[in-house]
Amino acid sequence: MTSLPTAEELRRLAEDAARRCGVDLDAVAGDHPVTSPVNGQHLLSVRRQTATDVQDAVARAQEAFLQWRTVPAPVRGGLVRRLGELLREHKADLATLVSVEVGKITSEAAGEVQEMIDICEFAVGLSRQLYGRTISSERPGHRLMETWHPLGVVGVISAFNFPVAVWSWNTAIALVCGDPVIWKPSELAPLSALASAALLDRAIAETGAPEGLSQVLIGGADVGEALVASPGIALLSATGSTRMGRAVGPRVADRFGRSLLELGGNNAAIVTPSADLDLTTRGIVFSAAGTAGQRCTTMRRVIAHVDVVDAVVERVAAAYRNLPIGSPLAAGTLVGPLIHDAAWKGMQDALQAARQQGGEVVVGGGRRLAEEAPDAWYAEPALVRMPGQTDIVRQETFAPVLYVLPYRTLEEAVALNNDVPQGLSSTIFTSDQAEAERFLAADGSDCGIANVNIGTSGAEIGGAFGGEKQTGGGRESGSDAWKGYMRRATNTINFSGELPLAQGVEFPI
Ligand code: NAD
Repeated sequence: MTSLPTAEELRRLAEDAARRCGVDLDAVAGDHPVTSPVNGQHLLSVRRQTATDVQDAVARAQEAFLQWRTVPAPVRGGLVRRLGELLREHKADLATLVSVEVGKITSEAAGEVQEMIDICEFAVGLSRQLYGRTISSERPGHRLMETWHPLGVVGVISAFNFPVAVWSWNTAIALVCGDPVIWKPSELAPLSALASAALLDRAIAETGAPEGLSQVLIGGADVGEALVASPGIALLSATGSTRMGRAVGPRVADRFGRSLLELGGNNAAIVTPSADLDLTTRGIVFSAAGTAGQRCTTMRRVIAHVDVVDAVVERVAAAYRNLPIGSPLAAGTLVGPLIHDAAWKGMQDALQAARQQGGEVVVGGGRRLAEEAPDAWYAEPALVRMPGQTDIVRQETFAPVLYVLPYRTLEEAVALNNDVPQGLSSTIFTSDQAEAERFLAADGSDCGIANVNIGTSGAEIGGAFGGEKQTGGGRESGSDAWKGYMRRATNTINFSGELPLAQGVEFPI
């Protein structure tokens, strides 16, 4: 494995990429540190906003909303089309920033930017398909219909592990729906955010859209809290830990705002005796070790039938022993660093708890590159056999720890899949169609995402994304998730010249 890049090399890569995207680095200089998990070193600093800046941003966004809401939706789509073109042009630049700031390997970082391009294309088409329904009226000479109108300012709070895609899922849809966006990105990835926003600013200027349509507020939880509390935020879309969602959800509800919560997952694969074990192994390893176990959809549990559990463990362990771990910017690397020391500590604590709860670490769990980069945290993905679904297995540890549990009947496997507080993603590996259908049925997986013969991670933008229970219940991205960004009006139109009342009510005057 090649050695890690120096801070100077990473700084130059990041600054050049940010500049090419249109970021004025002098204008955004400040005291908020940008640190790279690639070598754990400080690269540069950017300006951070405070809670008081939030109110100004909301006022500007509301002004933009008054103009934008009456622009025809297909014209609004023109702005998103331009954003998509600029993202395509700067795909490599944004991917570099994502790799430098959060440590994603090049292919996954580029994939994240591709998702941004994909959602722009989806949203452009959607801008001509914001359909309402026409409904049969029970009264003669009446028509009943529904219309969808822009909702208002959308606040987006995003997590470090998808530092730009989550913003684009929300923003592309919000913009065609007629809503301005204020973004509070992860404090761990400010440059990726500033670069993405600079591309949108350019698209706004070129298409003559209102200036206040897109704003970014760099800062920590305090800035997020101010956004959450602001009555000017009609929809608050928050992605992050369940702990964050627990703080945010009730506060938005308290002011009767709308929230869209995308929180933690604890995603499982059921492996049945009929599964194709080659395909299963590849699916498991990508979902469990990819992104160094730092996706909300990362596979954290394998529930394998007793007849195949040994074979599954053997194959996954063999793959784990050969995983190239190292600089995410180096060709061939499949596992990059953890985001920070707290993530490493969380992983070690989980492994210790697993051992205390009867688990056996089959492979992994060690640290790599510690001498070369004492402040970077490269972890060997860990595979842990557990006797059952103990406390630690039921928690989300945001690191590459994969627990393997045995099962005997499919009912038991589905019950184990569902018996965790989270409800994001799930999958079954099987060649038996009846088993697959039972997994997808009403009494099957209780997750927002239920797959067959693919891993738990790597969703496409065309479907609605999100999960149940402590994952928060939100849905964003494709399908009809756009409805969350608009308000619905039901219209009754009377062309009868009479005034018949519904339900046969008589009211003679
Ligand atoms: P985090 O909860 O620490 O932070 C997420 C964001 O919330 C950050 O921008 C942070 O500044 C902000 N924040 C934190 N506390 C806040 C508060 N009280 N009020 C307002 N804002 C607040 O999460 P993280 O470590 O960045 O990301 C990892 C977590 O995110 C994991 O649990 C993962 O499963 C989850 N995640 C979920 C999804 C999903 O779509 N379901 C996607 C990505 C990540």
